[in-house]
Amino acid sequence: MSLLQISEPGGSPTRRTARKRAAGIDLGTTNSLIATSIGGEVRTLADAGGAHLLPSVVHYGVDGVIGVGAAAKEQAAADPANVIASVKRALGKGFDELTGSGDYRQYRFDPARDTHAPAFLTAAGARDPAEVSADILRALARRAEDRIGEAIEGAVITVPAYFNDAQRQQTRYAASLADIKVLRLLNEPTAAAVAYGLDSKDHGNIIVFDLGGGTFDVSLLSLQKGVFEVLATGGDTALGGDDFDRLVADWLARQCGMEEIAPQDYPTMLRAANRARETLSVATQAELIWGGSRFSLSAAEFAKLAATLVRRTILACRRVLRDAGMETGDIDNVLLVGGATRMPLIRRAVAEYFGRNPLQDIDPDRVVAIGAGIQAEVLAGNQPADDFLLLDVNPLSLGIETMGELVEKIIHRNTAIPVSKSQEFTTYKDGQTAMALHVVQGERELVSECRSLARFSLQGIPPMVAGAAKVKVTFQVDADGLLSVFAEEASTGRKAEVLVKPSFGLDLDQVEKMLKESHDHARSDMAARALREARLEATRLMDAIDGAIGEDAELLEVDEHAAIDRAMDDLRKAMAGESAALIEERTEQLNNVSKDFAARRMNMTVGAALRGESIDAMESQSD
Ligand code: ADP
Ligand code: MG
Repeated sequence: MSLLQISEPGGSPTRRTARKRAAGIDLGTTNSLIATSIGGEVRTLADAGGAHLLPSVVHYGVDGVIGVGAAAKEQAAADPANVIASVKRALGKGFDELTGSGDYRQYRFDPARDTHAPAFLTAAGARDPAEVSADILRALARRAEDRIGEAIEGAVITVPAYFNDAQRQQTRYAASLADIKVLRLLNEPTAAAVAYGLDSKDHGNIIVFDLGGGTFDVSLLSLQKGVFEVLATGGDTALGGDDFDRLVADWLARQCGMEEIAPQDYPTMLRAANRARETLSVATQAELIWGGSRFSLSAAEFAKLAATLVRRTILACRRVLRDAGMETGDIDNVLLVGGATRMPLIRRAVAEYFGRNPLQDIDPDRVVAIGAGIQAEVLAGNQPADDFLLLDVNPLSLGIETMGELVEKIIHRNTAIPVSKSQEFTTYKDGQTAMALHVVQGERELVSECRSLARFSLQGIPPMVAGAAKVKVTFQVDADGLLSVFAEEASTGRKAEVLVKPSFGLDLDQVEKMLKESHDHARSDMAARALREARLEATRLMDAIDGAIGEDAELLEVDEHAAIDRAMDDLRKAMAGESAALIEERTEQLNNVSKDFAARRMNMTVGAALRGESIDAMESQSD
């Protein structure tokens, strides 16, 4: 069996590749945004007119022209059947689900299309929800390219924490249609927490209160050692800023003495209501004009109108806490996300219920995109992962077997992935031409206590003295958790590699069991490791001395030779025992009694090289 030695315990730093242009995308129900790093800071990008929010609305014109955003929204009243809004709600839904819900009443669906992805029938042809989403994504990518003059190479796209597999799949599919490489789908609440830098904290419970245009999500995140877990989610997928607009529109209708709002008037009235409501976030009074008359709505009046809706949001928070078995006192941070949390009455209600001021320094409608952008920077390798938390981590340490059946951990447990780490190893024996690489997983110090993942070997190392060869071993875990191990010998460039899936055949219980065992055995493992290392060092020294005596016995004095033999015997006896300290002590002793012999050999070699001059002579010359 060929052997490994460790030559460089710290490991060499990962080689950085060139910067990659990465972006974070908040693909929202109402509005979408894109964020990227500019001058070292992740920011959302505005369109040419200065608007950061791109309304998630697409207009399919008769001429085949596709409009996205504000322009498309303008067409909603005139051409309702060809303007698709809130397409996010349709992602991953089946035909019956879509046609059955009131959300898409004004559209016709293509029955010929497969029922898994029903398509809207538009003037520009049938478009399924992923295709519509792709049009929004394309518009965002184009904006980024226009603004920064660079194409996006990869993006982190956010999704609601409650999104199921089908919805996530459809989001990925939309990105592929738009030619955007998905670095990762990230939960929206987690993105918000990342934007606030909460991932740098050790632990904590975070409530993310996200009130958007048409959806309300509350999430309870638990942060443990840099890893976020969604403990509970709640809210209401049919509650958002739009509902508050409806309240104001109804109020306006009452002021005008209308029994009912005519369907053709409703969009315009809603728009007036929306403007007034947004005004009330910064003013105590808002004006509405309808039918030539002016109406004034006060913040206090609006608060009365909205009281029931506000109460509903707080009840949802209470339910989420109850689901997680927590109380408001267990919460360390509350984050406000979504444009509608700009309403002071929402802020007040949240602050009052949780008994603390929510974090709100970051623009609530940009915070998710910013968090996604920060995450994208990390995943693209533009930011050292160690400084940032990541959401996906390596659950158990990955390492390699070294001499003495010890494990050298290369990627430690809880390291964010994707990650790549290298370390240099060397040969143990003179003339060694191959290395056996054994990849293991686990927290224990001894190979026998860890899980064996793969074995491979690197052949063709040129014969050299022990310790001279340099073999760089690189462990790389990609975003899907796949591990590649590469070994490369420096002088020849000879390579060998193996690919493994470390999670294969491993379930959570096993991970937990392995962690528990390592914890229980931490002390004895350390002792075992120390013992093996001491034995290894002792063997190495005795081998070296044996070799030296074989070559240069004539340089030894008689009693010196006897002393070395005695020290060797003593060391051998100690090695049969279990005390690392005793072995170390006797190794030291052997070192001492053989020191002069080693020095004499050294002098002789150097002297030979300097053609007869002794080191003493050389030193005196250089004075
Ligand atoms: P989504 O996540 O659903 O895409 P957003 O987070 O963009 O939605 O929120 C959109 C909602 O935020 C709209 O209902 C809009 O009226 C509301 N909103 C935006 N700005 C304000 C404001 N200043 N005051 C009150 N509501 C606002
Ligand atoms: Mg949102």
